[in-house]
Amino acid sequence: MFTRSEKLLIPLTKPANPDPNGAAAIQELLGGKFGEMSTLNNYLHQSFGFKEKKKLKPFYDLVASITAEELGHVELISTAINLMLEGSVPEGEPTDAPLEDAKNLRNTHHTVVGGGGHQVMDSMGHFWTGEHVFSSGNLVADLLHNFFLETGARMHKHRCYQMTTNQAARDVIGYLMVRGGVHQAAYALALRKVTGVEVTKMLPTPNIDDAKIPEARKWQEIGSHRRLYTFSESDYGDVAGVWSGPADWADGEELEVIKGVPEYAAEGPVIGECRSLFSPDYAPEEIYEIAAQLMQKGGISPLQPGDGSHSRFQGSVPDSPGASAQNGRKTTPNPTKKK
Ligand code: MN
Ligand code: MN
Repeated sequence: MFTRSEKLLIPLTKPANPDPNGAAAIQELLGGKFGEMSTLNNYLHQSFGFKEKKKLKPFYDLVASITAEELGHVELISTAINLMLEGSVPEGEPTDAPLEDAKNLRNTHHTVVGGGGHQVMDSMGHFWTGEHVFSSGNLVADLLHNFFLETGARMHKHRCYQMTTNQAARDVIGYLMVRGGVHQAAYALALRKVTGVEVTKMLPTPNIDDAKIPEARKWQEIGSHRRLYTFSESDYGDVAGVWSGPADWADGEELEVIKGVPEYAAEGPVIGECRSLFSPDYAPEEIYEIAAQLMQKGGISPLQPGDGSHSRFQGSVPDSPGASAQNGRKTTPNPTKKK
């Protein structure tokens, strides 16, 4: 089973401007064949179907630990997409066609289906499918598959990084490059322990040093490229049987297993409402007020209704609680509308 924390794996701030076509491009890193949905579900289902996990505990613990991290990666890339979509369509009267420009965006589902939110699909609009999951019951075949999956994922991250200068996207991609490198190395190390074969002799693929990417280098500088997290205080510690010894990709420094979660995890930004997309709708003032009263009555939160400092209240409309959250953020200009 899993526990959940209301934190993102890394601190993330809102990008200065909406970037809906950038969001459409990095959908590949969420729902593409080599995206985070694929890494998550491959390891998740391999761990569920793992044969002789007690006898093979270091290998089981490796797949299980990385599974938990991948769930956090799905959350990170989804959040980046949502931050890039925020404010991408203007508010306005329905008769003025405020969504007119959205028909020219790369991904129409973001607006029509998602209400300004991510979709579980790739950058070409194909929904993610369980056909991307390889779980063979054979340890070596699965490990080799996972190594290849991380290799492809890393290549796609480097390509997507070059497709956008949006800072939220680059912050997430830079981190995922480093963590993907760890997973690639971990599966290679596991294969070496089982078979003696050094698949890392095929590295680097692609031949790009993460250290050249500022958003990746900063994670290397704090040692994230040598650490594996168990995402559990009590379980999966036998992953150290695989993840230990000197790292030849980190100047021979020691690999580390961290019990629990990364210390840099932090609460993420709140995504605001969009009234022209009916999000969150009902009667907006009324549901914000209802929620505030529920928290007050239940003694859940010490905050008062209308206290914008509380993350749950942040919105974009001047008379809604927490209106200040959206200040300073621009929406996409409407190029088809003559001024
Ligand atoms: Mn990942
Ligand atoms: Mn990975």
